[in-house]
Amino acid sequence: MSSLVGPDEDDPRGKPPVPDDVQDAIRTLIRWAGDDPGREGLVDTPARVARAWKEYCLGYEEDPSTHLSRMFEEVGGYDEIVLLKDIPFQSHCEHHMAPIIGKAAIAYLPNDRVVGISKLARVLHGFARRLQIQERLTAEVANCIDKHLQPRGVAVVIEASHACMTARGVRTPGVQMVTSRVMGCFRDDHRSREEVLKLMGY
Ligand SMILES: [Zn+2]
Repeated sequence: MSSLVGPDEDDPRGKPPVPDDVQDAIRTLIRWAGDDPGREGLVDTPARVARAWKEYCLGYEEDPSTHLSRMFEEVGGYDEIVLLKDIPFQSHCEHHMAPIIGKAAIAYLPNDRVVGISKLARVLHGFARRLQIQERLTAEVANCIDKHLQPRGVAVVIEASHACMTARGVRTPGVQMVTSRVMGCFRDDHRSREEVLKLMGY
């Protein structure tokens, strides 16, 4: 079996090579699961799986806070909540390396500056594309926005299903886990918190 991954026929630009030891590890896992890594359908699987994992974990190659480095200070006196909701994301749980699929709502109450709205989703993806637990993902997104944007308040609510729970273990498809982190005025003032949660649909 060839252990070197050459340029892919389907992609004229070629694909990055995958080291032998990484492919061997995936072959070992296939064998452990009960299949023959040498059979035709699985021959190229180790390299594909390895590249897929690089993509699932692209967040390790970035500092999500860089997305918040460009701020706009001319907000025309806008001093209400900014909310981005139903942001889809995918992550992988650090306990089973199984998919976490969900959506997030991210809100902040600006002090004197705002960011481009797509940046909030980029911060989420930067932290989601790592091995995670949902609680930490929620906290990391909120803390990053709090630290770099210094708003009057931040609220992050994440709702997700965990394949380690839906496809194995207790096998309960449809179960959603909800986590939230509220900071600043959304934590200290119950009316602000109610307002933001209502806007988010909770
Ligand atoms: Zn898990």
